[in-house]
Amino acid sequence: MNYCPNCGTRLVYNIVDGHNVKTCSECNYIDWDNWVNVSCVTVAYTNNNEIIMVRLKEDNKITFPGGYRELGETLEQGATREFYEETGMTVKEVKLYRAYTKDEIRLVWIVFKGKVDEIKFTDNSEVSEIILVKNPSDVDVRDFRGPLTIDVFNSLFE
Ligand SMILES: [Zn+2]
Repeated sequence: MNYCPNCGTRLVYNIVDGHNVKTCSECNYIDWDNWVNVSCVTVAYTNNNEIIMVRLKEDNKITFPGGYRELGETLEQGATREFYEETGMTVKEVKLYRAYTKDEIRLVWIVFKGKVDEIKFTDNSEVSEIILVKNPSDVDVRDFRGPLTIDVFNSLFE
């Protein structure tokens, strides 16, 4: 950010609380440069105690249903909407499970747990198939999309 979002003055570097940050000399706005995108991810269980994972069309990798929260949504609404968009299923009893920060891509991953009563899959632009996992050996971790998926997955079987 080069200009103040409040008053349009050109921002200049200053030390604030030990951080070298851009500040506005007119209105004292501080650009902390700490924005992140928030992704809402859901680990949903079937009545048979299986976990629902998805294979992404983009890279053929496996992860949990999820995506970016939209402005105006609660985190739970974002998780529920993304789950529906990627599977066609309505997840319920959505509860916070854990959260991760991944600053190198300015991402916060909020992971929920939930339940699904009826298993079905509605074809969509993002996901090629759903994968039901009962035991860790049901999937190959090397097919997972990234370290966050692996970490969440492993935590479920500890
Ligand atoms: Zn300003």
